[in-house]
Amino acid sequence: MTAPNKTRIYLSPPDIGDLERRYVQEAFDTNWIAPLGPNVDGFEAELAARVGVGHAAALISGTAALHLALRLCGVGPGDEVVVSSLTFVASAAPVVQLGARPIFIDAERASWNLDPALVAEFLETRAQEGRLPRALIVVHLYGQSADLDPLVEICARYGVALIEDAAEALGATYKGRAPGSLGKAGIFSFNGNKIITSSGGGMLVSDDADFIAHARKLATQARDPAPHYEHTELGYNYRMSNVVAGIGRGQLASLDQKVQARRANFAHYQEALGALPGLTFQPEAPWGMHSRWLTCLTIDPQTFGNDREAIRLALEAENIEARPVWKPMHLQPVFAEAEMVGGAVSEDLFERGLCLPSGSSLSAADRERIIAIVGDCARQG
Ligand SMILES: *Cc1c(COP(=O)(O)O)cnc(C)c1O
Repeated sequence: MTAPNKTRIYLSPPDIGDLERRYVQEAFDTNWIAPLGPNVDGFEAELAARVGVGHAAALISGTAALHLALRLCGVGPGDEVVVSSLTFVASAAPVVQLGARPIFIDAERASWNLDPALVAEFLETRAQEGRLPRALIVVHLYGQSADLDPLVEICARYGVALIEDAAEALGATYKGRAPGSLGKAGIFSFNGNKIITSSGGGMLVSDDADFIAHARKLATQARDPAPHYEHTELGYNYRMSNVVAGIGRGQLASLDQKVQARRANFAHYQEALGALPGLTFQPEAPWGMHSRWLTCLTIDPQTFGNDREAIRLALEAENIEARPVWKPMHLQPVFAEAEMVGGAVSEDLFERGLCLPSGSSLSAADRERIIAIVGDCARQG
């Protein structure tokens, strides 16, 4: 069905520069090919500085970072963990893999992120019943921070560990600070489609030095400090390689340009399509800057004249990749048994939501093609 003569436009492809090459070359030239090394140390220090946290541990993935964050917050068998329902499965999978149960909570329309009012109500009820969850994972979706202040306050009041899944939100702000830096711990991802990539990798950040020191130990098979191999607990093999960290370091240096490019994509889409009846972009909440990692919108099929899926297929026919908004976790077969608080907002966003190609290297010509196709799907006359 696709037009084979047209090069595929991807949703969010890697955008690699010369600095990345230099750091990787340096790793080869100095024979630092093993896990750990100067690029790993540099990447950790530079990301911590950029995000405004005390400490960072570079890991093989964002999912590994979340797994360690949960374990270090004491999550284990029989515990419960509150998670944003509207997210990618990696936000919730490590909860189950630690033997705990996720409880999903709905989004609010202002940001498409976790609704603090629903969280407050839920935790109050649970406090009265004497069965509070161990932790709460708030996701900052598509490059926009959730409303963190109320969540920080509520979690502190009830002694629930706040973990920020900022995998999609590097470069965004919340009241001048970086999402990922306000909770007990935050995680970032450098997967191939994120705003910066290391070809695959993640970072765990926290202001707590012991927390990150313990994370580093668990990520390297939990070796105790002894000349022989001594273990008092079990860990994982989760540390980032020095070659991979070189790519990440180079990418981080151009984060601001990448945010600008993605916000420019959004501005062009909005200017060209924003007036079409029935088409609404993900709002930018008043508390911060949206990085526009992805430009997302919702379609009202009655007013627009076509539904979300019709647009997606029209783009796909031209070899252009667009994707539905995340299918909420409470609708996933694997979480059929999980408790859900609310649900109407995330269900609606999934039903009607679409993500457009948003790469920082997207050309103006390609963007115009996309705009023309979406425009053609609107009700004629
Ligand atoms: C990408 C992503 C992750 C996982 O990161 P990986 O590095 O791919 O393991 C977690 N949460 C969200 C919301 C993501 O988008």
